[in-house]
Amino acid sequence: MTAASALDKLPAARRANLLRRYAVKWGFSPDQVEQVVQASGDQPCPLDDRALPDVSAILADDGRYHLATNGKPACAGTKVRRSQRSYRHTMTCHWWLQDGVRRFGNSMPMDAERFEIHTAWVVELGTERIPAGSVAPHLRCPLPVSLMWPRYLGGDTPISRIRGQLIAVFGEACAICGRAAQYVDHDHDSGLVRGMLCEYCNVSVEWCPHLTGCAFGDYLASPPAHSLAIRYPNRGRRRLAPLPSPAQRMARRAEIEEAAKRARQPL
Ligand SMILES: [Zn+2]
Ligand SMILES: [Zn+2]
Ligand SMILES: [Zn+2]
Repeated sequence: MTAASALDKLPAARRANLLRRYAVKWGFSPDQVEQVVQASGDQPCPLDDRALPDVSAILADDGRYHLATNGKPACAGTKVRRSQRSYRHTMTCHWWLQDGVRRFGNSMPMDAERFEIHTAWVVELGTERIPAGSVAPHLRCPLPVSLMWPRYLGGDTPISRIRGQLIAVFGEACAICGRAAQYVDHDHDSGLVRGMLCEYCNVSVEWCPHLTGCAFGDYLASPPAHSLAIRYPNRGRRRLAPLPSPAQRMARRAEIEEAAKRARQPL
């Protein structure tokens, strides 16, 4: 890397963060990251045109909240069109016997006899969609297992109090894109809260290669909540792990793929 490199223009913490992210996720060398940052120069932010599906929760007449992507209940499968308000909800419970005791879960021994029961009921959806993170775990429909509910954001916790503080000052819009925001974003180096972000911006903001001139870069350059000087409560728990070797990365990726495969298997 030369002294006039594009990476060198970024503040030291952002530079270290980008190098680390690209190395861990893609195995990039510092020179390759330099090329990414250089090539992105005057280009629009690569993060701009991507978005996570719009995930919400809908209360139905069975007393549960069902997870919906882009307005369509995820547990309805392909059987239901978006305009329909009711559908047949199915669930399968399975168990096996171990020493005469019923066992549930995914660790059934190969030689055990599997028992299962199918249930089905008709679900009539309400019309109101609410943020999925605000639904308490005991009110959530557990299906489908392949689509995870977001972390529960309600309750009285240190984070929820900070969220309340931020909403009172900045409103409920994501500080970067303006969509509904739920996540308290903080700088892992300083431990300071930066602002409220939507899920997409929260997971992607630190991949932005720009110093300024894009909404992500501008947010990082002057985080709106810095004026409030709020310290993120988990500060101090996190330790920087050394970079994994390529072999460790491959092993970790195989592990994740294996876990994803298991999660996709039917109940
Ligand atoms: Zn950017
Ligand atoms: Zn459901
Ligand atoms: Zn956003």
